[in-house]
Amino acid sequence: MKDAAEIFKKLHELWPNAHCELEHNNPFQLLLAVVLSAQTTDKAVNKALAPLFARKSDFSPSDLVAMGEKKFLSVIKSIGLAPTKAKNSVALARQLLQLHAGQVPLDRKSLEDLPGVGRKTANVVLNVVAGLPTMAVDTHVARVSVRLGLARRTENRVQIEEDLLKVVPQEWGVQAHNLLIFHGRYHCTARAPKCTACPVAHECRKVGVAIGKA
Ligand code: SF4
Repeated sequence: MKDAAEIFKKLHELWPNAHCELEHNNPFQLLLAVVLSAQTTDKAVNKALAPLFARKSDFSPSDLVAMGEKKFLSVIKSIGLAPTKAKNSVALARQLLQLHAGQVPLDRKSLEDLPGVGRKTANVVLNVVAGLPTMAVDTHVARVSVRLGLARRTENRVQIEEDLLKVVPQEWGVQAHNLLIFHGRYHCTARAPKCTACPVAHECRKVGVAIGKA
């Protein structure tokens, strides 16, 4: 698909440093951060975890199990759904120790069998840690993909993921999701997309989209 190749080339020129913005020092910390980021921002998760990772840069599943749910809840209390997330996080760490020797498994089934880990979380880990061309569809990826005509308009994020996997050229497979996230987070925002200064306006089906519309 010629347009898709052009879109990703231009997005990469605009966002050459597009990357996962959840701060982490090892795969477990990334997995934990992604689980905690459900229905909250990466910024809020980074802020909550920063003191913990600063104190112990190699924070691991055994550290979290030793810390326990109550203490971890006090660390993440500023983020949404903290009690449930604290409970899931400790269960997740315990299961990593019991089933995977404390390592993060890099296959989809094992990842999605872990407590609190869904398809999107697995996609982020497989992309960032294993360098696989997965499409983690969050609100930014969904909005920008639909506006650009890379995916059909739907509430079904698995459908958007499947559409993207069909049209994203192989050469952009690994970077595509971060390019779409950066564009959605910092340029093609939900309420105020900067269409007049957008490098992919020529390829965009929704250029000039009215404020507040998808
Ligand atoms: S032209 Fe507008 S709607 Fe299209 S991708 Fe750019 S900012 Fe978003």
